[in-house]
Amino acid sequence: MADQYDVVIIGGGPGGYNCAIRAGQLGLKTACIEKRETLGGTCLNVGCIPSKALLHASELYEGAKKDFAGYGIEFEALKLNLEQMMAQKDDAVKGLTDGVKFLLKKNKVDHITGTGKIKSKTEVEVTDADGKTQILKTKNIVIATGSEVTPLPGVEIDEERIVSSTGALELKEVPKKLVLVGAGVIGLELGSVWRRLGAEVEVVEFLDHCLPGLDKEVSKAARKLFEKQGLKFHFSRKVTGVEKLKTKLKVSTEAADGGDAQTMDADIVIVCIGRRPYTQGLGLENVGIEPDKRGVIANDHFRTSVDNIWVVGDTTTGPMLAHKAEDEGTACAELIAGKAGHVNYDAIPTVVYTYPEIAGVGATEEQLKEAGRDYKVGKFPFQANSRGRTNHTTDGFVKVLADAKTDEILGAHIIGPNGGELIAELALAMEFKAASEDVARTCHAHPTLSEAVRQAAMAVEGWAMQM
Ligand SMILES: Cc1cc2nc3c(=O)[nH]c(=O)nc-3n(C[C@H](O)[C@H](O)[C@H](O)COP(=O)(O)OP(=O)(O)OC[C@H]3O[C@@H](n4cnc5c(N)ncnc54)[C@H](O)[C@@H]3O)c2cc1C
Repeated sequence: MADQYDVVIIGGGPGGYNCAIRAGQLGLKTACIEKRETLGGTCLNVGCIPSKALLHASELYEGAKKDFAGYGIEFEALKLNLEQMMAQKDDAVKGLTDGVKFLLKKNKVDHITGTGKIKSKTEVEVTDADGKTQILKTKNIVIATGSEVTPLPGVEIDEERIVSSTGALELKEVPKKLVLVGAGVIGLELGSVWRRLGAEVEVVEFLDHCLPGLDKEVSKAARKLFEKQGLKFHFSRKVTGVEKLKTKLKVSTEAADGGDAQTMDADIVIVCIGRRPYTQGLGLENVGIEPDKRGVIANDHFRTSVDNIWVVGDTTTGPMLAHKAEDEGTACAELIAGKAGHVNYDAIPTVVYTYPEIAGVGATEEQLKEAGRDYKVGKFPFQANSRGRTNHTTDGFVKVLADAKTDEILGAHIIGPNGGELIAELALAMEFKAASEDVARTCHAHPTLSEAVRQAAMAVEGWAMQM
């Protein structure tokens, strides 16, 4: 008779593999099924990691071209070796996906390669690449099947000339002219990579602003900086079709509310209008789980409508972020093991890894206004930060939002150098329900960018001392 598992996890991305590691640590007999050859999901294979590898390398390249001379570093014949840039990206992916495989083994998790399908409340069928099937018997099932690219009606992605984020990480040469559909986080990161490497980038966005969901003051500042860097935005417009000609693409656009048809030429089109949960062929109908219209499976503390079937990560509600999936996977394993698993959704940071980086945690000013909350704002520009000045990285600011009466930090937003690292301090502060004064009175090393965070916290009570 087949082994009985305590938990079978379907999907080996950040939600699934972290759930598996934690379950293994807690002594649960665990299997993690992944249909890709490698573990790590979207994040490690075609998401966070390869995009950050290209963002880092392209930032160095642009720095070498434009900024190094200002630091007194001069050289001749700077050359882009795109093949090597892609190879170092692939190397980062391989190292990390192998690392996840090692961690599953270390924690005694059975890693099973194949496609998982829920047959009943206690059985998962796995089909391998040769079509061979096996049934795993289990007390609990965790759905961690992630998400897929949302298609754009009328535009067929071929991953060569009309690409999704996946194809955009694999282009063989730098396009002369690139049209990006969607000015969200992933799109602007990828657009930044190819602009730095030499492409002319135009962005078509349905909304009237970029980076929806972020604090508006921050997204406005970001737009200005992106425009200064050379990105050209077409807001309040939609792409209605892309015609493939022999040597170029013809992109048709219209005003968001219809009319005013125009066309633009492109060598490459990147479609980045979002992602949607992926549950295809998962057998949800066999256990009566019904996703909503967008494909999202609802959860109550990660439990679906079936009490021993759980869901974490991009497949369920909440922001589609790797660390959110990771935290949910961890907490879900803890709940299955009879412990107290919890995720604080008010303190999940978001980072856009452009230059400068953009980061936020907690409420935006717009959300506080809408909730009728009485709040105070403290802001501090990197222009006045000694490390920012020393490093020639003075664009942007830190903004701290605190409750007008209690001074509890309700949200924090950064646009500036290393914003993605700096936000961690404010996320931790929020996790501890700190007041802005707690951050303001914490000693910060000098000269560091983190002093800008402290000064912004001081500014909440109007006593920022360095501007
Ligand atoms: C270009 C890009 C950049 C990104 N950058 C960031 C970033 O910088 N920071 C960040 O936080 N997030 C980022 N994200 C989002 C992040 O990748 C996702 O939020 C995260 O991967 C979600 O984790 P998950 O475990 O829910 O799903 P996934 O990572 O999608 O993993 C799900 C896994 O399940 C497998 N699977 C699906 N169905 C089955 C089945 N039936 N049987 C077996 N296996 C199955 C899939 O093959 C996949 O490997 C980025 C995404 C993209 C596309």
